[in-house]
Amino acid sequence: MRTITLGRTGLEVSAVSLGCLPIQRVPMDEAVRILRKAYDSGITYYDTANRYTDSEEKIGNALSDVRHNIIISTKTGATDKATAQKHIENSLRMMKTDYIDIIQFHNPKGLPDRNDPNSPWAAFDEAVKKGYVRYCGITNHSADTAKAAVLSGDYDTVQYPFSYISTEKEVALTELCKEHNVGFIAMKGLCGGMLTNSAACYAFARAHDNVVPIWGVQTMEELEDWLELEKNPPELSDEIMAVIEADRAKYSGDFCRACGYCLPCAANIEIPTAARIETLLGRAPWQQYMDDASYDKMHRIDNCINCRACASRCPYGLDTPALLKHMLAFYDAFYHAHGGTRGLDNV
Ligand code: SF4
Ligand code: SF4
Repeated sequence: MRTITLGRTGLEVSAVSLGCLPIQRVPMDEAVRILRKAYDSGITYYDTANRYTDSEEKIGNALSDVRHNIIISTKTGATDKATAQKHIENSLRMMKTDYIDIIQFHNPKGLPDRNDPNSPWAAFDEAVKKGYVRYCGITNHSADTAKAAVLSGDYDTVQYPFSYISTEKEVALTELCKEHNVGFIAMKGLCGGMLTNSAACYAFARAHDNVVPIWGVQTMEELEDWLELEKNPPELSDEIMAVIEADRAKYSGDFCRACGYCLPCAANIEIPTAARIETLLGRAPWQQYMDDASYDKMHRIDNCINCRACASRCPYGLDTPALLKHMLAFYDAFYHAHGGTRGLDNV
């Protein structure tokens, strides 16, 4: 397995590394089997978060006996010192380890104040003294915040969404990280499931030598797919570039990345699904969105009170209420064109 140096941490991590959010959805036994297979196949870097329910516990159960052969990063979304301390101690317990390689501030709205004695930084500093953590990183969905983090000089790593539909500004962020020797951890390499050609996603990531992609897997097959790509790496061939260009054309402009940061919604709308329904219906099996439950979920959009809390939280600056209205109109047209009968009295 190739390795990539994670910026100034000097940590050498496997070129195929794992984002451990999806293993929350897998029963414990199977998650342990997948993580162990990953380790046995040479994967040495695992990223998780305090917020990912039992993900840390699964890592602990699968890998605590080989802890010193792997690199672990986790995250705290705390905005104060005391909560951040609790999160760090809980992560240590869950992962059955006595140290965390990288603790990351989890998608803060702005950069926590380095000099505030009550900020998560204070928890980090104490944790370093106790030997609980080694390096500090930040995750974000705002390119401006990520850039500010790099320029601050305070962060060893930045974790940011990165795929072949990333903008030029986002590609420039990877270069800035290289220049400042900050590790770049790439989440959402499939853009939250919007991109379906794993070879194209892999080839794009591989073309950026300081980028450490963390692929989310929840089945053995998905894991094997990434391992196979690393064994027989695809190039950015004409064929793959055609896939990339087609997707770039399709997803240029504003679209929902399914990050979920707009939630909760006062009208209980499942925004990450509803705001992407046009794309989801364009893929088989669209039939799963034709039942009464799906119809009712989409029609929660009728109850939107236009509070705009979602729009104010969207890191991509989307006009979420307007996007949802467009998606509902698209859904209704698709639903009725495919034989759906609900709401026909009203159309
Ligand atoms: S504006 Fe509508 S969709 Fe957005 S949070 Fe408020 S109720 Fe929900
Ligand atoms: S609307 Fe914005 S915040 Fe909400 S899921 Fe989509 S991209 Fe994320």
